[in-house]
Amino acid sequence: MLSCHDLAHKYASDYIDGQLNWRQRLAVFMHLLICVRCRRFVTQLRLVCRVVKQRGRDVIKGSTPDLDALASRLHKEYATQKKSSSEL
Ligand SMILES: [Zn+2]
Repeated sequence: MLSCHDLAHKYASDYIDGQLNWRQRLAVFMHLLICVRCRRFVTQLRLVCRVVKQRGRDVIKGSTPDLDALASRLHKEYATQKKSSSEL
């Protein structure tokens, strides 16, 4: 079983990017099932990654949106997705 330290320091980023092999991904998934703190950490890391990627796209397009507004918008999108997936 992975420790919280291992998940946060070794696997979380690659998990989000889809870079883990199936054994590593399964180990992360099993840990996330039982650890609310790591679930929160991965959720927040995923949100940060989305903000950074969207900001990069916006800079390429020539616009530079307010990061707080962008984070707020993506968080609302995430909350909407989470709500709709829990209704299934
Ligand atoms: Zn944990």
